[in-house]
Amino acid sequence: MEELFSVHYAEVGLKGKNRIFFEKRLTSNIKIALSGTGYTEVKRLHDRILVLIGKDADVSEIKKRLQQVMGIAYFELACSTETDITAIKETALQQIQGLTYGSLKVETRRTDKTFPLTSPQISAEVGGYLIEKTGARADMHNPDVVCWIKITQKNAYISTEKIRGLGGLPVGVSGKVLVMLSGGIDSPVAAWQMIKRGAKAVFIHFYSYPYTDKASLEKVIELAQILAVSNYRSVVYLVPFAELQQVIVTGTPAPFRVLLYRRMMTRIAQRVATMANAEALVTGESLAQVASQTLTNLRTIEAIADIPILRPLIGEDKAEIIEKAQRIGTFDVSTRPHQDCCSLFVPKHPATRASLAELDEAESDLDIEALVEEALNNLEKQVVG
Ligand code: ATP
Ligand code: MG
Repeated sequence: MEELFSVHYAEVGLKGKNRIFFEKRLTSNIKIALSGTGYTEVKRLHDRILVLIGKDADVSEIKKRLQQVMGIAYFELACSTETDITAIKETALQQIQGLTYGSLKVETRRTDKTFPLTSPQISAEVGGYLIEKTGARADMHNPDVVCWIKITQKNAYISTEKIRGLGGLPVGVSGKVLVMLSGGIDSPVAAWQMIKRGAKAVFIHFYSYPYTDKASLEKVIELAQILAVSNYRSVVYLVPFAELQQVIVTGTPAPFRVLLYRRMMTRIAQRVATMANAEALVTGESLAQVASQTLTNLRTIEAIADIPILRPLIGEDKAEIIEKAQRIGTFDVSTRPHQDCCSLFVPKHPATRASLAELDEAESDLDIEALVEEALNNLEKQVVG
């Protein structure tokens, strides 16, 4: 008898080569996620992944970490035993002994059709045995405990707890994105949503030190660390933005400054994306949340981009975003005070409807290429996770 985790993923739409790619990635992500927990092997079977554990394995830590791996629909801690009805009965009894319950139910699935009993027969036999030994009632509709039995050619698996995973897709199967991470509440949530869909995230942050303190830098590194629980090794690009802001402030009309900052950030970010092999930029923008996020203004930012800008939070209310940030664990770091570089030198009432022509005109005296090159020369890179 041996304890192990049986990990299941959502299989919808997964066929042929895609499926093998997906399973291999999930397997290697699980290995990374579980390092140091005492697992002995992660094994890919045709319809699930087994995590074998040694005697000293930290079972509750493994449970916690599997709940953070993208691409898992659910998992269970199971006991494997021989495909023999007596062994199955004994193992099932041991499995439910530590639990508190008044009623139970046994559910069986059999992939080995040569096993002498049918699935309903196995459920009835094991259920009868458990009831006799424990004094619990049988309840087919609303049992306190369900004992799941799975019989394959080699082994029988018995489990009493199914734990929901996050769903989504294994990180890495959907390519790479460059997330514009600000230190605020929204962008880490946007990152998380993309990571959940299988995108590997790399991050970029623009900071205005020495006009601001270094709080935003520290926050961004901490946020990337929290996200690395699901994204694993993560690269963060840090771009000094103060000089460029100075140029914008002296050379352009005040109402357009936020938008001009954002256009410059976007131009720099897309060059970094190309360097990092990322295929899209991701922002935490949500429609009309602030002046720079009106449709008209999003369009003027988008106009200078030549790779897609993805905005996973575009249709979400602030309250929904906050709730997600709390669940992911980024909220407390995000709400620590920092000076936002986009609020430097901007008027109280920034333009909510700047036309493309107005912005192009406002920028016409800037040597945009040189400013982008300069920023790229001063780029720094940190790795977390
Ligand atoms: P957040 O909560 O993510 O800071 P926000 O509601 O404060 O968002 P803005 O300040 O308008 O909104 O920024 C919109 C988006 O632009 C951010 O979600 C982020 O993706 C990007 N962004 C803003 N400032 C920075 C920055 N300093 N570095 C990198 N990206 C930034
Ligand atoms: Mg912000």
